[in-house]
Amino acid sequence: MTQPDAQIVTRFAPSPTGYLHIGGARTALFNWLFARGRGGRFLLRIEDTDRERSTPEATEAILRGLTWLGLDWDGEVVSQFDRRDRHAEVAREMLARGHAYKCFATQEEIEAFREAARAEGRSTLFQSPWRDADPATHPDGPHVIRLKAPREGATVVEDAVQGTVTFRNDQLDDMVCLRSDGTPTYMLAVVVDDHDMGVTHVIRGDDHLNNAARQTQVYHAMGWTVPVWAHIPLIHGPDGKKLSKRHGAVGLEEYQAMGYPAAGMRNYLARLGWAHGDAEFFTDAEAKAWFDLEGIGRAPARLDFKKLENLCGQHIAATPDAQLLPEIEAFLVAAGKPPLSQAQKDGLSRALYCLRERSKTFPELVEKAHFVLSSRPLDLDERAQAALDTVSRGILHELTPHLQNASWTREELEAVVAAAAGAHGLGLGKIAAPLRAALAGRTVTPSVFDMMLVIGRDETIARLTDAAG
Ligand code: GLU
Repeated sequence: MTQPDAQIVTRFAPSPTGYLHIGGARTALFNWLFARGRGGRFLLRIEDTDRERSTPEATEAILRGLTWLGLDWDGEVVSQFDRRDRHAEVAREMLARGHAYKCFATQEEIEAFREAARAEGRSTLFQSPWRDADPATHPDGPHVIRLKAPREGATVVEDAVQGTVTFRNDQLDDMVCLRSDGTPTYMLAVVVDDHDMGVTHVIRGDDHLNNAARQTQVYHAMGWTVPVWAHIPLIHGPDGKKLSKRHGAVGLEEYQAMGYPAAGMRNYLARLGWAHGDAEFFTDAEAKAWFDLEGIGRAPARLDFKKLENLCGQHIAATPDAQLLPEIEAFLVAAGKPPLSQAQKDGLSRALYCLRERSKTFPELVEKAHFVLSSRPLDLDERAQAALDTVSRGILHELTPHLQNASWTREELEAVVAAAAGAHGLGLGKIAAPLRAALAGRTVTPSVFDMMLVIGRDETIARLTDAAG
């Protein structure tokens, strides 16, 4: 059979036992980038064979997380559990080919074997007496199906990140492929699924490197092509220790709730353990074009919140309005805020140009948008109240008639405000604080001139009049 042009196929294969971990999100991203940058396919398989620990809620959380991060997958989501008959079929096929055997050893017998081995100072890896038994001698009782793994030599994992990793075969026992109740083991299921799904590259956490040896043996037993392995180092906390709750957020959804834009997360996660020269800030198109397995480092990557914020700020600044607005709205909904009215949306849209700069997260942007999201009478926070002392209120009072007649351009507004401050021997800086307070009810705002331009003359004068009291 002639093969079509070899197409790259990657997959993300999470176990649905909890939230989508930031490390899992990065694994998914690497697989997505690798496939998408090469016209390949990116598949999603939910490894739900552990019925005790797998929940539909966890699957939902994973799909939600990937969707938010913008990682679209091809085709239907595959359930590993649904494929259990196929896994069993492969186990029986290995049996028929003589690459697997029925093992009737009981737990007690296995334990006794280990005890004896320990006492004699031999390897405690179980060596089944059934490995070479004549099937005619098989009893009728319960049995597992074990892989007839090679005992001599070595199993070599050629890994695109870790290099050549050699496992001595005398240190790998004949693993169980099918349990006595007929259910497949995880190790078998992964190989059968990856093969059937046509996966060409397995990019996953290096906690699976040892599994790759056993999985390679299954590929060999079935005569299947071994995929390219790429085992990526795990993510560590800023202190270089294994990432845990203690370091802060570890679930992807927590980052969404904190208001990091998805584009910034993609950029940051791509840089977490992978590099393309000195490039820090890049677009999806660049990431897809540049991503390669050679650029993945061998040392664990460290989470760096400063860098994350920095990149997120750059992405907020670079995202076109038409895309940014719905993202802000989605963030507000996710944060449990009421939906924006049409007037608020319009205001936000007019104000975006002066909000996007220097906003590292959506909450920062929304805080600065307070002047355009709230309406009179403004609620003044404590600092804003403090900024509006008697002298300041007097100046604001004097300012209003001048604004009445000013043409509404930045230059003229600057001139009018500077004149009002100058009349009291004050610099622009001194009058900016009460102006911010009057216009926004806050002290962290865009420039007073931007606010005036966005809300317009009538609203500006009304707010100053409110504040002047
Ligand atoms: N289900 C495994 C996990 O969540 C991943 C297995 C694999 O990628 O081969 O750790």
